[in-house]
Amino acid sequence: MKPSDLATSDKWWKRPTFLTLQEEQWPTKPDTGLLEEHVSREMKAEFKREEHLTTTDLATVSNVSPTACFGLERFSTSKKLFRVTGYVLRFISRLKEKVKSIGESQKSGDESVTVKELEDAEVMCLQEAQKPLVSSNKFDQQRISLGLFTDDKGVYRCKGRLENAELPCQVKHPILLPPRSRLTSLIIREYHSRVMHHDVKDSLTETRCRYWITKGRQVVKAELRNRAECSRVQGRPSAAPATPDLPQFRAEKSFPFANTAVDFAGPLYVKNVFGGESKMRKVYIALFTCSSTRAVHLDLVPGLDAQPFIRCMKRFFARKGVNQLFISDNTKTFKSKEVRQFILNMGVAWKFNLPRSSWWGGFFERMVRCTRG
Ligand SMILES: [Zn+2]
Repeated sequence: MKPSDLATSDKWWKRPTFLTLQEEQWPTKPDTGLLEEHVSREMKAEFKREEHLTTTDLATVSNVSPTACFGLERFSTSKKLFRVTGYVLRFISRLKEKVKSIGESQKSGDESVTVKELEDAEVMCLQEAQKPLVSSNKFDQQRISLGLFTDDKGVYRCKGRLENAELPCQVKHPILLPPRSRLTSLIIREYHSRVMHHDVKDSLTETRCRYWITKGRQVVKAELRNRAECSRVQGRPSAAPATPDLPQFRAEKSFPFANTAVDFAGPLYVKNVFGGESKMRKVYIALFTCSSTRAVHLDLVPGLDAQPFIRCMKRFFARKGVNQLFISDNTKTFKSKEVRQFILNMGVAWKFNLPRSSWWGGFFERMVRCTRG
């Protein structure tokens, strides 16, 4: 009620009309129609003011780059940076949607970042990195020399000279990156790992498929200098130990076959044509080689059992004489009881290679290879 209405108002000069009636007839609810209308109007105005405030706050927040809030130094890879920025952008856009449609249920979306969000995040990071470049004094000069222009997303790209080449647009017009920027460092590292930690030249070439870094070679070189990760990848294996001296039995002056190495080669498949057999038989070559002269004595054994090998050794002694020492690997035949007994009776020493040391005995394994060839 306005003050001017008070002069003519019965309610002001006399009383509310329901007071003239009996108490039973009084209304149960006070006549607050005016009050309710007033309060409702006030509440709506207040709500509108709040809504406006929240939207303005968000608009202010969205003008500030998310990357400026959390600092690029915290990220070790550009992919991680773009992913986190993508999540922050999603959070802001969801917050805006919530303000616009208060009361509506929030949309439940996919949890992982989409490709679109990643692209938006990358654009935002690039714009942020290009800002100091644009505000520098040399920008006008750079704009002319590199033919800079902004693409549809507001990112500065170089014109280049490959307009007529059949290449993707991002290769023909690389994105401009400042030399001193955390984002540039992260991108160089990523492209360097893509070329499997190869040298500066390859890393720079790979980077230029998408980005143009001013003073590129210097920047890439400085970025890749003294990196622990690179040292691990590019490091050489430890040097092989120096070759030891030859053992005495290989270097001493003695009769041929005085010190003999023995080994089996094969198997071979032979047919006994004299016996008239059509079946193929498996046989092995027993190879005796002198450790000093490398002379070779070959014999055929029908199997790896002890007895055929003892007969084979008897033939060897008959041809070359009884030697001083045998050298061999740890084949079961050589270690069998019968062979040990026979050798003991003949008074010949036997030296075995160290078990499970396949690099030992190279001098007779080489002769096995020659025989096979
Ligand atoms: Zn590297």
